Amino acid sequence: MKAVVKQRIGDGFVELTDVPEPEVEPGTVILAMGAAGICGSDLQILHGRFHGYVVPCVMGHEFAGTIERVGPGVSNLSPGDRVVSETHAYTCGECFYCRSGVYNLCPKRKAFGYGTNGAFTRFVRVRKEIIHKLPEGITVRDAALLEPTSVALNALTRNSRIAPGESVLIIGPGPIGLLCLQVATLSGGRVTMVGTERSRQRLALAVRLGAERVLTDTELYDGIADGSLKGSFDVVVIAAGNASVFETALMAVRVAGKVVHLGETAENASFPLSLIERKNLTVQGSFSHNWPVWENAISLVKDGAIDVHSLISHEYEISRWREAFEMVESRAGVKVLMKP
Ligand SMILES: [Zn+2]
Ligand SMILES: [Zn+2]
Repeated sequence: MKAVVKQRIGDGFVELTDVPEPEVEPGTVILAMGAAGICGSDLQILHGRFHGYVVPCVMGHEFAGTIERVGPGVSNLSPGDRVVSETHAYTCGECFYCRSGVYNLCPKRKAFGYGTNGAFTRFVRVRKEIIHKLPEGITVRDAALLEPTSVALNALTRNSRIAPGESVLIIGPGPIGLLCLQVATLSGGRVTMVGTERSRQRLALAVRLGAERVLTDTELYDGIADGSLKGSFDVVVIAAGNASVFETALMAVRVAGKVVHLGETAENASFPLSLIERKNLTVQGSFSHNWPVWENAISLVKDGAIDVHSLISHEYEISRWREAFEMVESRAGVKVLMKP
């Protein structure tokens, strides 16, 4: 079967190539990919800037589809079931985090798409423990966005929380930022979304999805410089893939406020560490998600409380992966999906 494969470590080395179909094993299913999202981290893998990827590896970790085959020991799933898979292809089951149910933090975790073969192809082998059945009312296409939805939910309802009425600044109007916006709004937060001048379209979408105010990054920097936006947000959420915004976040948050960081970046940041202490700040990281978060995501998307559909801007067959990746890189769209 054709697959988008990262062949070697370094910048580039991604090819559409033939790989053997995965064989079903006990406790696993073969999932026929129906839709798979391209993530910012896929671009980092393409350019060799991502930490800890293995090669050769079929890329793609945000995916949904239908069950093709079930292995021995799988009783609750059948061929034809519409399902979505978590990203945690392997976790050890023995460590403190696995035993605490936060297996997303397992140090031996292997993710689809960069730790083991992922979804930019026809068939993926998935262990039964991380499969969620899709209820009526969620298409497979929309279900490809349940992964980033779970990222946003884990950040803003588990690792951190937003109280009704709190002012929330979200930096980065990409898919994660737009999903954080919706989670923050559901929690009663009043959201200001920040993006660059060239993300005007995404900022317009942010308004449709509930942002009270949008700002360009220049407007934010100016507002911090003249004092009008300095220290004025209860919570600042960083959903941008560059490290330089961290200092901006520390300036924009109020004294004793919270900064939540979930932008995947390989860069190092340089910022005045003393701000964290002098402003009495809470800085919270958030990584990935686990079973209950996914179940919440499914129920919120099913009921229309979170709109993932409006985020899907482009779809490409995997044979056109290069165009699809370029579209993500250009930021002309929002979420770009691959289909088999
Ligand atoms: Zn992702
Ligand atoms: Zn573990």
